[in-house]
Amino acid sequence: MKAAVFHSPGTPLVIEDVSIDKPGPHEVLIRTVAAGVCHSDLHFVDGMLQHPAPVVLGHEAAGVVEQVGSLVRTVKPGDHVVTCLSAYCGHCDHCLTGHLSLCVSPDTRRGKGEEQRLSYLQKPMPQFGNLSAFAEQMLVHEHACVAIRRDMPLDRAALIGCAITTGAGAVFNTAGVRPGETVAVIGCGGIGLAAINGAALAGAGRIIAIDMLPSKLELAKLFGATDVINAADTDVVKAVRDLTNGGVHFSFECIGLKATAEQSFAMLRRGGTATLIGMIKPGVKLELDPNHLLHERRIQGSVMGSNRFPVDIPRLVDFYMAGKLHLDPMISRRLELGQINEAFDELRRGELARSVVVFEQ
Ligand code: ZN
Ligand code: ZN
Repeated sequence: MKAAVFHSPGTPLVIEDVSIDKPGPHEVLIRTVAAGVCHSDLHFVDGMLQHPAPVVLGHEAAGVVEQVGSLVRTVKPGDHVVTCLSAYCGHCDHCLTGHLSLCVSPDTRRGKGEEQRLSYLQKPMPQFGNLSAFAEQMLVHEHACVAIRRDMPLDRAALIGCAITTGAGAVFNTAGVRPGETVAVIGCGGIGLAAINGAALAGAGRIIAIDMLPSKLELAKLFGATDVINAADTDVVKAVRDLTNGGVHFSFECIGLKATAEQSFAMLRRGGTATLIGMIKPGVKLELDPNHLLHERRIQGSVMGSNRFPVDIPRLVDFYMAGKLHLDPMISRRLELGQINEAFDELRRGELARSVVVFEQ
């Protein structure tokens, strides 16, 4: 099959032939229909994060099941599915206490001694995030995908696999925003817009969107922001405090920078909670005023929106079909696999919400 192969940081991906195995007992072979291009992929391409290479990146996808292993009961050939990075084993401590997204059990991967799912030039190739979605097919554990309704367009469904689950899940699952509470979202890229939309779905009273690009702030209003702040020319913390009579109940940092992470904490009211979603560069340390903690302010992380994706993803699909989850304006460009390097260039410029690779069927 054709796949976009990443060789080393700073070099463009190359479209090459990669071999994919047949499904093992608990595995599912999926024909990829669409794959979103996410900032986390870019972090590897640019070398901020490391992964053994060559490797096929991509982790936000939707497709159609082609073949299933002998013991798979959750999906069948022909099913439309969304994949998720949060493959869960179902029997570890995290899984059994309902925290599927924290599972790191190796049981969802093939063992070191076994033949690997992917191979390149006759050599075993590692799989990225259990998925490797920038390829015509994906071979995944059955607990890394979920079937969705057939009337859901797959290019939009792909976004639910990472950005939407991460942003909206942080609001619903990690933070637990309740009707009427105030929310601030720092950074209006794919995940920030999903958090804004999630806050609107949760019934947040006031939703303040913060970014430095006027075009993104306009987009944020479409997703449910009630107020916008352009951080390019404003003291963000003061502006949020002024708008909310002392600070927000919940803030969400969706960029991954020291300065904005610290702002997300400083803009909380007493008892408020800051949730960090953006990936901060390894080694960076945050500085917080401990006096703020005295007033029961909290700061927490969120990984993949603390999801229980087999439940969450079909619900998010229903929200889209009901017109409440705005995926259409989130896709700024659809492109072919061969144009994938252009999508990374656009992400670097930071102007577009999201590009989606759509595969020829
Ligand atoms: Zn992602
Ligand atoms: Zn587990």
